[in-house]
Amino acid sequence: MSRPDIVNLLSISNFTCEHILSNSMQENLNFDQQHIWHPYTSALNPLPCYQVVGAQGVEIELASGEKLIDGVSSWWTAIHGYNHPALNAALNQQISQFSHVMFGGLTHQPAIDLCRTLLDITPQGLSWVFLADSGSVSVEVAMKMALQYWVCQGNGKKHKFITPRNGYHGDTFAAMSVCDPVNGMHSIFNNTLSQQIFAPAPQTRFDRHWNEDDIKPLQDLIEKHHHELAALIIEPIVQNAGGMRIYHLEYLKRCRQLCDDYNLLLICDEIATGFGRTGKLFACEHADISPDIMCLGKALTGGYMTLAATLCTEDVAQGVCQGEPGVFMHGPTFMGNALACSVANASLKLLLEGQWQTQVASIERQLKDELNACSKLAAVADVRVLGAIGVVECKNPVNVADLQRRWLKMGVWIRPFGKLIYIMPPYIISPTQLTQLTSAIYKVLV
Ligand SMILES: *Cc1c(COP(=O)(O)O)cnc(C)c1O
Repeated sequence: MSRPDIVNLLSISNFTCEHILSNSMQENLNFDQQHIWHPYTSALNPLPCYQVVGAQGVEIELASGEKLIDGVSSWWTAIHGYNHPALNAALNQQISQFSHVMFGGLTHQPAIDLCRTLLDITPQGLSWVFLADSGSVSVEVAMKMALQYWVCQGNGKKHKFITPRNGYHGDTFAAMSVCDPVNGMHSIFNNTLSQQIFAPAPQTRFDRHWNEDDIKPLQDLIEKHHHELAALIIEPIVQNAGGMRIYHLEYLKRCRQLCDDYNLLLICDEIATGFGRTGKLFACEHADISPDIMCLGKALTGGYMTLAATLCTEDVAQGVCQGEPGVFMHGPTFMGNALACSVANASLKLLLEGQWQTQVASIERQLKDELNACSKLAAVADVRVLGAIGVVECKNPVNVADLQRRWLKMGVWIRPFGKLIYIMPPYIISPTQLTQLTSAIYKVLV
């Protein structure tokens, strides 16, 4: 039910209003439970779902009246918070001109501005942008670029990918093939998934002394398989949905070096880490490296619309388009959607002209201070923080439905998975709001 509807009902009479509201709310939720898939959910036994009627700043407003401080930024996207006047204005302005035109043979200012900015702010060497419709698609595009690159060099034997375990790169088939084989449930799709090569996950933590042994397994595998490897794909510094692991920058430096030494392309998937989340604009900057191909998504539009990008070097672009077929074989219908590009431009403007460095640094300090208390609890295995990412790893898998019910009463929205309770709040969160999140985590774990 939309807000104007509720206001209308309210003006009739309080009694009927509540009556009608709760009836139709329940009907909505019943329909939802019986007919609508939600992410990673069972049709037989779905998790509870809460209906949203509004969102403003850092808060999500439910149909039942609660206002929740969002600790997840709607899956790490809404870095400036909800209902932002500048982002709204950009969309209104664009919609009054045109919303979408095909990108085949046509182009427009929002896309040109966006690609120019992306090339400006990403690590040096990247000089081409492919606009994709979601993170997973941008990973498909990156992997296809790498494969086509080697075929066009007359080296079609280089057709596999190597990647550390505990990675996550999306839910489409090629992306799935490089996700952690256990988390990604590869056994279900074994007959269809391409077989890739998995190295052990990096072990040295970001804030510890580098252990030279950490790179050995990857090095050995690359040495053994390089003749069949197109690329190494990795999430720089933070492995996100595959385990929220924060690893040493030297590991990433070595990945770059190994790719150079053994003639592999390096694909950095910055979909989760990009746009300031780890304390650098891009996580690659921690290790001072440039990938050959980079994927961006999630926070790109400030959480407003789906849009992603695959960037590559001049060498990759030239290599892909040499020989037959001479073109890169990909082109989504909604490529370069003008609304998505215009809101991405507005979001990047806010980010680059704003205080993200100070905001993320102070979120990091506060997360370190306040989550530290959790590390002493019996249920907790580990606490780790980098930038605006705070992770509490429990010893056992948590009961999501139960925890969320309790958090709702505390006015916070957090979505754990497996043993992991994490927060990745909007950068605009206030210290008081952040304390509400960290103390809500502590309270359910004592
Ligand atoms: C979320 C994510 C993806 C997939 O993006 P979608 O937009 O959900 O398809 C890929 N890689 C990483 C690192 C991600 O965090």
